[in-house]
Amino acid sequence: MNRLFILVLCWALAPFAWAKDVFESQLEQDFVQARAAFVEVYKDDTIDAPRIQAVSRQLKMRGVQVLVLKGSPFGLGAYVAGLVILDASMESETNEAIGFVLAHEYSHHTAKHWRTLVPHAAALARKHADLEPLALMKMALGTRPSSESHQHEFEADDLAKKRMQAAGLWSDEGVGEFIVRRVWKSESDTHPASLARLQALGIAQ
Ligand SMILES: [Zn+2]
Repeated sequence: MNRLFILVLCWALAPFAWAKDVFESQLEQDFVQARAAFVEVYKDDTIDAPRIQAVSRQLKMRGVQVLVLKGSPFGLGAYVAGLVILDASMESETNEAIGFVLAHEYSHHTAKHWRTLVPHAAALARKHADLEPLALMKMALGTRPSSESHQHEFEADDLAKKRMQAAGLWSDEGVGEFIVRRVWKSESDTHPASLARLQALGIAQ
């Protein structure tokens, strides 16, 4: 009886799973287009950043492109559609600081955090059929419940620490000093407060 129920339930859910797959692969295609458009739009603001690129190689970041922008409108670091975007001011930061921002943003990619945006994006797409993929993604991010977003940030921090440790780049003092000095102190819809992030990373203050 139980087995039959599970079977029926699986069958009943199958069309939803299929629809989600189709939407996800569409979103993935949109991301490839969004990435190319993004690189083109910010071409004149992109700088060579040999130190940042060297640290990204040390961290063995694969499958993403690191883009360093003068006066980045996305803050110190961001992850968008396979792009890890850093502000140019990061080029003169310590190796630990560069490593932390790179590894954190890269972890949003490896943990596939954008996939959880799909249900939100799907609902928005039905409402706003004329939206560009990037605009849709921004809206999806904005409507994401902050508890889920905060959970993603903690997870990205944790993965970043592990990746930095594996690369021999981690130090409590180096990363802690950077977070205290340059990361937002108060919590927002998308990010937890810097003190909560330090505590979760096991960095004593
Ligand atoms: Zn993040």
